[in-house]
Amino acid sequence: MGNNLILQSIGNTPLIRLKQASELTNCNIYGKAEYFNPGGSVKDRAALFIVESAIKNKQIENGGTVVEGTAGNTGIGLAVVCKEYNLNLKIVIPKTQSIEKKNTLKELGAELIEVDAVPYSDPNNYIKKSKKIAEELGKTNKKGVLWANQFDNIVNCESHIKTTAEEIWNQTSGKVDAFICSVGTGGTLAGVSIGLKNKNKNIKIGLSDPMGSSLYSYIKFNKLESKGNSITEGIGTSRITKNFEKALVDQAYHIEDKEALNIIFDLVKNQKIILGGSSGINIAGAIKLAKKLGPGKNIVTILCDSGLRYASKIYNKKFLKEKKLPIPEWL
Ligand code: PMP
Repeated sequence: MGNNLILQSIGNTPLIRLKQASELTNCNIYGKAEYFNPGGSVKDRAALFIVESAIKNKQIENGGTVVEGTAGNTGIGLAVVCKEYNLNLKIVIPKTQSIEKKNTLKELGAELIEVDAVPYSDPNNYIKKSKKIAEELGKTNKKGVLWANQFDNIVNCESHIKTTAEEIWNQTSGKVDAFICSVGTGGTLAGVSIGLKNKNKNIKIGLSDPMGSSLYSYIKFNKLESKGNSITEGIGTSRITKNFEKALVDQAYHIEDKEALNIIFDLVKNQKIILGGSSGINIAGAIKLAKKLGPGKNIVTILCDSGLRYASKIYNKKFLKEKKLPIPEWL
């Protein structure tokens, strides 16, 4: 990272007390404001560590190409990091992801390959496709091709052990009772759970799972089963990734979109914080965990990205109406 100011500005995000969630539970519920990262999301951390580790291991050099399958945020984080290391970037993204994320990726100079959203079991799944593209390119590119492989590359989890967990511990002066978040790759949950439990094994760790994801049933009943669906992006999965495998989870909650959206709409009104859907799933889980643990506890969750990244969806009356989701009176 050296003296690079952009890369140095990844991490060390503020920890914000969420007033309504705290009052409702008589706990202190804090959100780690990851939208302050230069790429605007929690995924900048993993992007930085994955690229720097590949450079260190001589997998890639100046002029080489990074390839990744992403719901968008990891791609944006990689675009920020690749620019600083003079690397090219090819992104495979499901068509269903927000236009705001896709446009940002293009504006940041990534080559975008949009594919149909199909399950991981399908050979045309975006993650598998990104691997194939990287393998093909690697045959001819002399500067190196890196398949970032955020789902199964555990450098992702390490980035959160070394940065996110450490920051949460310091920002709460070690007085953190619990941490909870949702899972895309599982890097955040695994890394923070390992980092915090290394400091104090009594810290409780929760999983906030959206509908349509199989992890709630995996934690509760040891079965990968899903029901329902969710309009949230970047979270929820049907398989156990190498990153999630490492997560130390004590509690799991299943969260409906309706509940998550009402929380983020209230935050816009009452605290002037505009968040994406996954943050709503996280805060809803934090409230449930706070109720279980009882009053007076300090609980931390992740505010993954900004709501501006989903202006055309969750902050759009027409979209909400079509999906039969709650519409705030101020929209
Ligand atoms: N929220 C959003 C908006 C994301 O894009 C992601 C990553 N895909 C996550 C949460 C989950 O983070 P992780 O990959 O570390 O599980």
